[in-house]
Amino acid sequence: MANSPLDIVLLGAPGSGKGTQAERIAPAFDLSHISTGEILRGSVKAGTELGAAAKRFMDAGDLVPDEIVIGIIRERLTEPDTIAGFMLDGFPRTLFQAAALDEMLAGAGRALTLVLLIDVPDEELVQRLAGRRACRSCGRGYNVVFDAPKVEGVCDVCGGELFQRDDDNETTVRNRLQVYARQTAPLTGYYRDQGILSTVFGGGRNPDQVFADVEKVLAASAKRPGDGRQA
Ligand code: AMP
Repeated sequence: MANSPLDIVLLGAPGSGKGTQAERIAPAFDLSHISTGEILRGSVKAGTELGAAAKRFMDAGDLVPDEIVIGIIRERLTEPDTIAGFMLDGFPRTLFQAAALDEMLAGAGRALTLVLLIDVPDEELVQRLAGRRACRSCGRGYNVVFDAPKVEGVCDVCGGELFQRDDDNETTVRNRLQVYARQTAPLTGYYRDQGILSTVFGGGRNPDQVFADVEKVLAASAKRPGDGRQA
């Protein structure tokens, strides 16, 4: 029997460690990592029309309109690297996007294997977001509190300069958390009803500890009977 692709969604509030876990999951499970936030930031940096349309929403910590991000994902999922399995990071973020994704996948004869929620208490999210840094050259993420680089301001991997994202300032962070609670948190119920939601607790734990749990959940899902996959 042919192996079914592992098609997953990573769900979690801003600061829950989605991006950090995504960097580990993608190579470990050989999945194409698709981050709408990264795609949008790339478009802003490149000065494209899409970037110009998205920037003011991103700077305010609001969601970019559904039709824009759905268009991005629709196009991205036609690329050949997604055939063997993908991991969506930061999409869907509204029930409308989730329904559009289901429809898109059904049209291609596939369906989500698993939605992985990384659950972190609100008070910890604010602290984490304030400490978040990324490398300007290779994009590796750090946290000055929980996952600091060996030398302050310098990437361990490539020696690049670390910077703080524009939307990690306090006002925008507060809005992003409210937007998550209002528009994205309801997705947990949507996917629980579909029977594909798994939760990993990320509070007070470092990325390695969280990844150990994530790996167990994904390995079990990859081996699920009827799925035809061998881990
Ligand atoms: P992220 O890197 O996932 O935190 O995304 C950064 C910003 O990009 C968000 O605060 C939104 O403004 C925008 N964004 C990313 N993904 C989506 C999405 N699925 N729907 C709407 N806006 C998005």
